[in-house]
Amino acid sequence: MLEENAQKKMQVKNHVNEKMEAIVALAKRRGFIYQGSEIYGGLAGTWDYGPFGVALKNNITNMWWKMFVDDREDMYGIDAAILMNPRAWVASGHVGGFADPLVEDLKTKKRYRADHLLEEAEIDTKGMTLVQMNDAIQKLGIRSPDKNPLGEVRQFNMMFATNIGATEHDASEIYLRPETAGGMFVNYKNILDSFHPKLPFGLAQIGKAFRNEIAPRDFIFRVRELEQMEIEYFIRPTDWEVQFEQWRTQIWRFIEAIGLDKEKVHELEIAVADRAHYSKRTIDLEYDFPFGRKELYGLAYRGDFDLKSHQDGSKVNLEYFDEETKEKFLPHVIEPSFGLGRTMLAILSEAYTEDEMAGEKRVYLKFKPRMAPVIVAVFPLLKNKPELVAKAREVYVVLKGEFGRVMFDDNGNVGKRYRRQDEIGTPWCVTIDFDTLGENTELLDTVTVRNRDNGTQVRIAISDLKNHIKSVIK
Ligand code: ATP
Repeated sequence: MLEENAQKKMQVKNHVNEKMEAIVALAKRRGFIYQGSEIYGGLAGTWDYGPFGVALKNNITNMWWKMFVDDREDMYGIDAAILMNPRAWVASGHVGGFADPLVEDLKTKKRYRADHLLEEAEIDTKGMTLVQMNDAIQKLGIRSPDKNPLGEVRQFNMMFATNIGATEHDASEIYLRPETAGGMFVNYKNILDSFHPKLPFGLAQIGKAFRNEIAPRDFIFRVRELEQMEIEYFIRPTDWEVQFEQWRTQIWRFIEAIGLDKEKVHELEIAVADRAHYSKRTIDLEYDFPFGRKELYGLAYRGDFDLKSHQDGSKVNLEYFDEETKEKFLPHVIEPSFGLGRTMLAILSEAYTEDEMAGEKRVYLKFKPRMAPVIVAVFPLLKNKPELVAKAREVYVVLKGEFGRVMFDDNGNVGKRYRRQDEIGTPWCVTIDFDTLGENTELLDTVTVRNRDNGTQVRIAISDLKNHIKSVIK
């Protein structure tokens, strides 16, 4: 029985690996995501985005910005510097405590996350101290993936340090920000002074963050250079429960807007013992990635911990003055936090589909049309017929002017072009053929529009094309 279970587990694991490998290969082949510094052998935990990866990223960030900044009256967008005065990271607690449990293979000296090794042995590490992890590793005789004994578990600070200016002594040491949140807390007073917002109001920021992850893995899921989309929403302390609910609903709205299957997203209520001491409530939103259910987003009520820490650290008064009640106090904060790379991986893994069409196996990305990097592709039926190419370019220019994300493709036969666009996830392909030119007079100035998901084609007048596509983009 045990053996059977082990075999089943292995089969599931292999299947998962195959799916992830297929996604990574497709992402590279089609110009979504490349390994960072690949021609030099790569750099672990870094990935470079190609043209379609950038387009998909922009579609995600544009949707986020629209929903959480542009469509609201209470949000202020900012773009703070990545390099910050190191005192900010002392105040926030990152210098002292932004650490993961590290354990070293005594033979190869390779380093691993102690909690990950324990979780692989099906030990729940939530709330475990370093000493408890150490004990568990020793007691269970857990070894490294290379089957070697492991050393002591110790804390490893994940912030990347560098030096500012020409000196290299301690006083010049600064950090690459490990999260975008810090930039918002240090600008909270600027927003108060420039805009005089009334509570509740929030700051929003999209940008890079850096974490020296001990074990980057699972493609773009755990990386060292990441992108976050974060909000700090300032509230009256008494409103926290209502505002928390409000943000929980907003996160679900975003999940729906980008086309993720809600059934694959799960709320995990973080238990008191596992929450940061200042948080009265934290929810992780987890997603069923091919390699397991893992954190996608976080939502935390952080009390006044951040403003208080920065007020103490900077010695600048960060209190809010309530004109009506004449009260002065530090607002509390709700923090919805979104990973951009993880959003992209969730979208990619959900869109990745294998099926059979016209007796042939095919792979396609079933993006929600409005998220697709290319909305429509335009083909001349044959590359070597100038009249077809000229007409196709005419149609292409019109569509490009309207939708922007439009591709002209005349490379290879039409079947091949469909397969290529399927892999890019293009919802519609428009083909200009001889009937378009009037070979069949009834079909003059009409084109075929082929649907990515079922391969069906409809014939549409060029003059109706823009409106037709507009009506089907969801
Ligand atoms: P994890 O437990 O997976 O390391 P975390 O709890 O440390 O994540 P937060 O500090 O809450 O993550 O960061 C907010 C969001 O940033 C996460 O929900 C995730 O989407 C994203 N994120 C965090 N670390 C990484 C990383 N190394 N690579 C990619 N995305 C990340």
